[in-house]
Amino acid sequence: MTIAIVAAMHEELSALLAQMPDEQRVRVAGRDFWVGHLNGQAVVAVLSRIGKVAAALTATVLLERFGVQAIVFTGVAGGLAPGVRVGDVVVATRLLQHDLDASPIFPKYEVPLTGHARFAADTEISEALAEVAAEVLVDPVALLGQKVVDDFGLRLPAVHRGLLVSGDRFVSTAAESAALRLALPDALAVEMEGAAVAQVCHDYGVPFAAVRTISDRADDEAHGDFTRFVSAVASRYSLALVGAWLAALPPPEDDEAT
Ligand code: SAH
Repeated sequence: MTIAIVAAMHEELSALLAQMPDEQRVRVAGRDFWVGHLNGQAVVAVLSRIGKVAAALTATVLLERFGVQAIVFTGVAGGLAPGVRVGDVVVATRLLQHDLDASPIFPKYEVPLTGHARFAADTEISEALAEVAAEVLVDPVALLGQKVVDDFGLRLPAVHRGLLVSGDRFVSTAAESAALRLALPDALAVEMEGAAVAQVCHDYGVPFAAVRTISDRADDEAHGDFTRFVSAVASRYSLALVGAWLAALPPPEDDEAT
């Protein structure tokens, strides 16, 4: 079984890539697919680039060219629900495209001709990721160092599970995030890729999960220290989480993973 680990930006995956000892780079559609092993599992790690089309294309290549049997998306997102704060982690149960609207022909948010607006994440993988998150993130100082924790005012990360919404827009005004909260009151966080990959994985019948660290509150301060947060916090959290999840999976049946 080969598992794909995807993030939109280099900073989100850099810590994880550094841990793949036998990686081989395969270039497809201008993207580098890193084929190798992480914690005993066969993985393909790749940067999708930002946005729904880039993410959908990357997912399709992973499925068609690399034959991956599951896709896990990781990275950062903007918190929408009141208790979802910077430094928290969101594991998606369902994913929706908040900028998709073919009404009145189809209900708002529904992906035309599929009958779905909310695409389910794989329950088993998502539950395992949420459990691992609760165990691994108990000591942010140990993972990040005291200075990073102080600089970003981080506390013990809460792990949230629920609706993650995606769209081709960096949500960075209080008015925009308020409008999203009103339209989709149960949305925990917003990003720009997850729901597109969920749709592709649904069409292929391949399990999908998404786990995101909250980098901002999708408000007027969303730009803040964005890039530094992604490298200093989110990238470390992704490695800790995804790494621990992979390590806990049963070893592959073939002998490829050494
Ligand atoms: N200012 C950044 C913008 C990157 S786009 C830069 O110049 O590099 C934001 C990326 O992080 C996307 O991949 C998206 O999935 C995620 N993200 C984080 N916060 C977000 C928000 N408030 N709205 C939308 N996407 C967000």
